[in-house]
Amino acid sequence: MQTPPVPAPTFCADLHAHTTASDGALSPVELVERAAARGVTHLAVTDHDTTAGVVAAQEAAHQAGTLRVIAGVEVSTLWQGREIHLVGLGLQGHPVLQQGLAYQQAQRWERAEAIVARLARSGLGGAETVIHRRGADAPGRSHFADWLVAQGAVRDRPQAFKRYLGRQGRAWVRPGWVSLETAVRWIHLAGGRSVLAHPYAYGMTGAWLRRLCEAFTGAGGEAIEVVTGRTTPTQVRDALGLSLRHRLAASCGSDFHAPGTGLEPGHLAPLPDAARPLWDHAPELLTAHSPGA
Ligand code: MN
Ligand code: MN
Ligand code: MN
Repeated sequence: MQTPPVPAPTFCADLHAHTTASDGALSPVELVERAAARGVTHLAVTDHDTTAGVVAAQEAAHQAGTLRVIAGVEVSTLWQGREIHLVGLGLQGHPVLQQGLAYQQAQRWERAEAIVARLARSGLGGAETVIHRRGADAPGRSHFADWLVAQGAVRDRPQAFKRYLGRQGRAWVRPGWVSLETAVRWIHLAGGRSVLAHPYAYGMTGAWLRRLCEAFTGAGGEAIEVVTGRTTPTQVRDALGLSLRHRLAASCGSDFHAPGTGLEPGHLAPLPDAARPLWDHAPELLTAHSPGA
């Protein structure tokens, strides 16, 4: 008698998520458990300017047995004076990428110290505890935002960014990120695919977004996030338009950071039928070797 075939789990890709290696609330293991429990079959771990959470997540995924972890990163870049985030997926490691990320981490530490100084000048001393608490992992602005909330200086994270940490805020520090073009090159050297992250998070007009897509395609960029955890149906339609117009493949990722934020791993609208999914363009992303596998 033949054993009936085990039905394959329904494909569910989430190609953008954070862990405690950057500003996520869950450890790599906890993130993988949460994603597995929600039916994610392909999860990219994409921490800000670090791949430090990837190996632990891949090992946890191997234990879970129902999902694959794609080695990723989210690189902060500068383009035309604006901060633009690129997601790199399917990384195989390369000294140039790792040196580049070390440079980005150094920028984060410098910025953190400048933020501490500016907060102190605004009468909010003691923010260096944020730096000390992070240990070896570089602090991001959201860590300072949480500290400001804990101090009672602001109501919540958005207010912390508005009053202090954002571009108009009193503790704003201009970041020294790498250029968009260089970040694409780092990702490619590491064997990865580059994705323009959350196009509607930059507050750009349609004309600026088209210019950005042109620059990104010109640099060799391959894909754009058409669906994120926060995109509205209108934004999905417009992002699909950008992806078709600029011949960028379509990616999807929740940008999950923490439980209780309204986002969950794998909680994503489907890509529109007309989209050309990144995994069709780059099938190796779905079959990549994971350690121990
Ligand atoms: Mn973040
Ligand atoms: Mn981002
Ligand atoms: Mn992100």
